[in-house]
Amino acid sequence: MRNFDVIVLGGGAAGLMCAFAAGQRGRRVIVLESSNKIGKKILMSGGGRCNFTNLHCDPSRFISANPHFCISALQRYTQWDFVALVEKHNIAYYEKTAGQLFCERSSRDILGMLEAECDSAGVQILTHCEVQAVRQPDDFEVASNMGEFSAAALVIATGGLSIPKMGASDFGYRLARQFGLNVLDTRPGLVPFTFTGAIHEITERLSGVSLPATVQAGQQTFAEDILFTHRGLSGPAALQASSYWTPGEDIVIDLLPTTDAAALLLHAKTNSRKTLLRSVLSEHLPKALVTELQNLCWPTTADKPIGDWPDAGLRQLAATLNGWTVRPAGTEGYRTAEVTLGGIDTNELSSKTMQCIRRPGLYCIGEVVDVTGHLGGFNFQWAWSSAQAAANAI
Ligand SMILES: Cc1cc2nc3c(=O)[nH]c(=O)nc-3n(C[C@H](O)[C@H](O)[C@H](O)COP(=O)(O)OP(=O)(O)OC[C@H]3O[C@@H](n4cnc5c(N)ncnc54)[C@H](O)[C@@H]3O)c2cc1C
Repeated sequence: MRNFDVIVLGGGAAGLMCAFAAGQRGRRVIVLESSNKIGKKILMSGGGRCNFTNLHCDPSRFISANPHFCISALQRYTQWDFVALVEKHNIAYYEKTAGQLFCERSSRDILGMLEAECDSAGVQILTHCEVQAVRQPDDFEVASNMGEFSAAALVIATGGLSIPKMGASDFGYRLARQFGLNVLDTRPGLVPFTFTGAIHEITERLSGVSLPATVQAGQQTFAEDILFTHRGLSGPAALQASSYWTPGEDIVIDLLPTTDAAALLLHAKTNSRKTLLRSVLSEHLPKALVTELQNLCWPTTADKPIGDWPDAGLRQLAATLNGWTVRPAGTEGYRTAEVTLGGIDTNELSSKTMQCIRRPGLYCIGEVVDVTGHLGGFNFQWAWSSAQAAANAI
């Protein structure tokens, strides 16, 4: 049995951050990672450039059964703290949009930074390490295919269920349950919607078309691009809305989010009477989308000039343009979801230290906890902040 001060389960964003921060405080730390490589999600994130934080990070950008839980950790290790670390390592970055910070070169820079910090803090990292059993007779004891390890502190940093191909597993949830912790139901978040029937045929034909729009699910509305796909609807606005969507409910898409469509059409009726309706719309929407809307909403009057349309008909069409109500059949699920909603109940944890209230020595950090960020760098910031909170307490 090899003894350490801290065993971190999971060599992802949160696990690596926690490992080196605890190592810097003089703790003897080992990271046990089940897959062949650490930090796989970091590498694939942000299209290979890792959207590592967001300048506008604040608690309102996170979803949790307890929306207050994330406040303390986010305040004590902020986006600015992480930016300072990135700058210390001379990693070139830029702000893409709305505060989202990306690497200039590659996500590898962020993983390289975490590895360098782990290295200089004396952290040991084992990959291909399959945990077989965890017990706590006194200290925590971990049995694995690579031997047995013990430590007074055990950190669950095994992430969520998204992208099983990348090594995602339900291990963290199972372990939490083993230690008597409550785990809230999980579901995929930041995930494309799928459709069946006529709407699916439309999205399939429009596959690849994107446009600025708003998407509303539940009480939340997101204004960004949408992207039609072979299966349904993706793009940032749709992904964001998916985290608030309840299966069986409609979503509402505003295809002209900055325009009062009724005013636009009635104005065109007065001023360009002979123009075809589809020509008026094509000035504001992708032509392929206008064709689909025409087939959907006014198939029999395709060649009627706008001047011949009754006001009521234009108003009805405008209502669809500003509030196209569709019901997704589902989502693409964990196969493509960026995150997992739900997870280890925050009521089980101290918000200052991420330590389990009923199980001293056990810490839970990152995505395995019921805190999920919006799209835009917030999920990594949660990983960094929760990891630091735990590391400072261990
Ligand atoms: C395609 C994609 C792109 C993304 N892009 C962004 C982005 O640009 N910005 C952003 O903020 N967020 C992004 N995210 C979300 C972000 O990657 C996660 O929220 C973040 O990685 C969570 O960190 P974590 O350390 O909790 O979990 P992970 O990074 O998932 O790490 C968990 C680790 O635990 C390991 N593990 C699992 N089971 C075991 C076990 N039994 N034993 C040992 N180890 C185990 C896993 O192999 C993994 O290495 C993206 C996600 C995906 C899928």
